[in-house]
Amino acid sequence: MEKITKNVYVESKISLCNSSCVVTKEGVVIIDTPMVPAMAKQHAAEISKFGEVRYVVNTEPHGDHISGDCYFGGTLITHEGTRDAILASKVEDLKAMLQRTAPGTQLDKDFRYRPPDITLTDRLTFYLGDHSFHLIHMPGHTPYQVAVYVPEERTIFTSDNISRTIPFFHQCVPDAWLKTLKEMEKYDVDYVVPGHGDVGDKKCIKEMYDTVTIWLNTIKDAIKKGMTLQEVQSKITMAKEFPNLPRDERTNGIIQMNVTRLYEILTK
Ligand SMILES: [Zn+2]
Repeated sequence: MEKITKNVYVESKISLCNSSCVVTKEGVVIIDTPMVPAMAKQHAAEISKFGEVRYVVNTEPHGDHISGDCYFGGTLITHEGTRDAILASKVEDLKAMLQRTAPGTQLDKDFRYRPPDITLTDRLTFYLGDHSFHLIHMPGHTPYQVAVYVPEERTIFTSDNISRTIPFFHQCVPDAWLKTLKEMEKYDVDYVVPGHGDVGDKKCIKEMYDTVTIWLNTIKDAIKKGMTLQEVQSKITMAKEFPNLPRDERTNGIIQMNVTRLYEILTK
């Protein structure tokens, strides 16, 4: 785990999404949990040295953020839409996702989907020790994204609205996403903790805005040229736009999914 500020720690290496914790005088707040059970347990053991887990916040409904919740204590808080997604989650889907992303890992008998205890639809603030946690609904990567702003640590946890690896568009709300990133820039912070990838500063908000814009404009241009979905799928590789992206099977699959989804949304 990397120490970011006096009281903020981020694990960006062991899990598929970043899992963070804020240590307060009255216990620990966890933001997102590792998906692979062994990693979630290891992470929970490591965090126990900081004190009791009082709250867990999931910033979005995707399996890589919510599946480790059952290995942590405390009160679980999510967006209302994320609660619905958790209640509808199927163990079979998680098993398939684990096979794809962490082959050989098994679900253990302790695994269960944990229904959130408290939900929000717009905003929610809670206080613990000397810290305040401002949960703000910021749609984009999905309709249910939540950012967590902790002013005492000058830190914002952005969810996958900022991903410093490859972004996923399969459940996105494109216009809201750009609006959200503009809104995020207003927060007075030094540390930006993305959903995936290294912790950065406010520069990564602008970087993500540019990334989302390039994806959107590429597909909008293709539609304007009259390209069909099949043509978009076979011709648009994003290699020119993002030369640094890896070209492995997994990344190519994500690119295909992204162009397909964006084409469907933008031609609706
Ligand atoms: Zn996600």
